[in-house]
Amino acid sequence: MTEAIATSDVPTILDGAKPDLMSKFDAIIGERKALLDAGFTDPYNVVMEQVKSPTQAVIKGKDTILLGTYNYMGMTFDPDVIAAGKAALDQFGSGTNGSRMLNGTFRDHMEVEQALRDFYGTTGAIVFSTGYMANLGMISTLAGKGDYVILDADSHASIYDGCKQGVAEIVRFRHNSVEDLDKRLGRLPADAGKLVVLEGVYSMLGDIAPLKEMVAVAKKHGAMVLSDEAHSMGFYGPNGRGVYEALGCEGDVDFIVGTFSKSVGTVGGFCVSNHPKFEAIRLACRPYIFTASLPPSVVATAATSIRKLMTATAKREQLWDNARTLHAGLKEMGFKLGTEQADSAIIAVILTDQVQGAAMWQTLLENGLYVNLARPPATPAGTFLLRCSLCAEHTPEQIQTVLGMFKAAGKKVGVIA
Ligand code: PMP
Repeated sequence: MTEAIATSDVPTILDGAKPDLMSKFDAIIGERKALLDAGFTDPYNVVMEQVKSPTQAVIKGKDTILLGTYNYMGMTFDPDVIAAGKAALDQFGSGTNGSRMLNGTFRDHMEVEQALRDFYGTTGAIVFSTGYMANLGMISTLAGKGDYVILDADSHASIYDGCKQGVAEIVRFRHNSVEDLDKRLGRLPADAGKLVVLEGVYSMLGDIAPLKEMVAVAKKHGAMVLSDEAHSMGFYGPNGRGVYEALGCEGDVDFIVGTFSKSVGTVGGFCVSNHPKFEAIRLACRPYIFTASLPPSVVATAATSIRKLMTATAKREQLWDNARTLHAGLKEMGFKLGTEQADSAIIAVILTDQVQGAAMWQTLLENGLYVNLARPPATPAGTFLLRCSLCAEHTPEQIQTVLGMFKAAGKKVGVIA
């Protein structure tokens, strides 16, 4: 093992410290300390000392292949994207100093919303400061008192938090179960307002939702549908709009939520819709109103990136090739994976427990490969997993190198024979 972060670098529980509001974190502090004391690197404190490309960084002084970022389409180093950001920085300064509602709407906020309308073919687009805030804002604003939000049990934290921020009744259904969704919708008052929240790709296992069937069930019960397509934008469906497009549900999904932090390659969130009253969201949505808007350089890079994604056919193909090659290679070696085939650009390697997870993660990092170590409560059903996310810029050679690294680490840790 490489040298773990020295325990002295890490805040620890002060012996004899007076109990106070921070005492509730003692268990989590203790668990982290035990991991570090056992010689492991903290998987949640990795520093990219240098980023050389969408697929390569320097971590702990070592050249490392990145297989754990959401940079699916490799747009972060695109020369046009970078030039747009630099120009906006020069022309408009470093920040907006205010809400979109007041002084915080600049030329490129309008431009990025137009790029989104063009990309999705919708009449409406509203940009938020993050994807997290897009879910928070849309769910809490759409579903009011006496309404119902019906969500998949494995929903992203931002969807759960959107429910908590609002005042609607919350109903959960079993992950990806059309039958359970139907049953639960059937128990609700027929005339109540209902919002079914789905995700195109579920980000822990990389599985996709049976959106066609789910949307049909939602419509049968008179519910509106919001689909979070954070992990499918750019490479799913004929226009890269997402799983909902690929599965032919465009006419029936009322709201699409997405993010700039994945395929677009910067930061920000959005919702697009064809609803004729969609603009009213700007007047009522607290996470849109009561926060500063994105810096001009960020919206300028996003607008350029989104427009380039509209025609990024070769990148899309490369990304799918990479995902399929990695999935097939890992499966052949005997790793247990989150999906039967490569359903998305996320390939999850399922491990037995935290010790095996941390050992695999660390061995890979020491050999020059970064993946995400994911654990409960972020993961479903108490699983520990290594999440590999592919990038269109990974070369076939890099994928082969990655497979070799997994083979060596899997044997060393005893995950595969
Ligand atoms: N939705 C899903 C499904 C996500 O996975 C994420 C982030 N991982 C978000 C929303 C939030 O996106 P952002 O990073 O832009 O806040």
